[in-house]
Amino acid sequence: MDPVAALKRVAYLMERERAEARRATAFRKAARRLEELDPQELERRIAAGTLTELPDVGQRTAGVATEAAQGRVPDYLAALEERAGVSLAEGGETVRGWLRGDLHTHSEWSDGGTPIIDMARAAIDLGHDYLALTDHSPRLTVARGLSPERLREQLDVVAELNAELAPFRILTGIEVDILDDGSLDQEPELLARLDVVVASVHSKLRMDGRAMTRRMVAAVEHPLVDVLGHCTGRLITGGRGTRPESEFDPEAVFGACLENDVAVEINSRPERRDPPTRLLEMVVELGCLVSIDTDAHAPGQLEFLAYGCARAEEAGVPRDRIVNALPLDDLLAWTNR
Ligand SMILES: [Zn+2]
Ligand SMILES: [Zn+2]
Repeated sequence: MDPVAALKRVAYLMERERAEARRATAFRKAARRLEELDPQELERRIAAGTLTELPDVGQRTAGVATEAAQGRVPDYLAALEERAGVSLAEGGETVRGWLRGDLHTHSEWSDGGTPIIDMARAAIDLGHDYLALTDHSPRLTVARGLSPERLREQLDVVAELNAELAPFRILTGIEVDILDDGSLDQEPELLARLDVVVASVHSKLRMDGRAMTRRMVAAVEHPLVDVLGHCTGRLITGGRGTRPESEFDPEAVFGACLENDVAVEINSRPERRDPPTRLLEMVVELGCLVSIDTDAHAPGQLEFLAYGCARAEEAGVPRDRIVNALPLDDLLAWTNR
């Protein structure tokens, strides 16, 4: 087993099972450090036991790399693999079988933890046909939102990667902030160039319900918006603490989604579970389009789809309402509507 692959696999499985982020990050950093080494030096250091002299490589990461180089499955990895044999969620397998990709993910260009290529390769390994890269927009400075210049630069990088990865496709995209007045936080001509536009509220989540309704409806009515991200903004568990749902008129907002063919996101992140069940039921009843997304910030989190699928199945979301059950060409026909 390749030492770098072993380290990355450990990180992936930690991300999947929601281990502490810094632990997975330590394995990612060590993997990157070894990846940058000349292969002969790597071999030499493994033989001499001097991997830990390198920055970012500790006892544990060096141990995993060394065991892998010796042709064994590292013990540390074996334990993780065993747990990975158990599915993350109960139910949802049928819906999961329908899905062709994921429309909401982040890379290290904003607040994600890995290069775009690592996210894409993980998506390919999961059998996805496509993955939308939706890094944050400029105003979300805490998440290193992309300026127009950096987003343009990213589009060139994605074009190169797509040439290499075809027929798999990285869809260009953005998770664009819905500003207080419902306008979007990116240049319109740039939004128009993207395959997928996810629009989300990240600021002033506690604003008055009527103002929030106007704000969200305005965003949904924007002709370039495809997906309404994590609509209530709630956090129900996890390291960032909890946060109540934003107040808005759900019939007005989901009605606007229906009218504008905008998909309501089922955000699969366990700390979000957004929309809550009563709102998800309303979405199904109204007949809205739905996008089941991970909002992954690391490759292993791409498996969070299992959580969203279980919820979609329980709520009875029909296959023909799920946009990421569409084959690539049909999906693009919808986003270009
Ligand atoms: Zn978001
Ligand atoms: Zn996101």
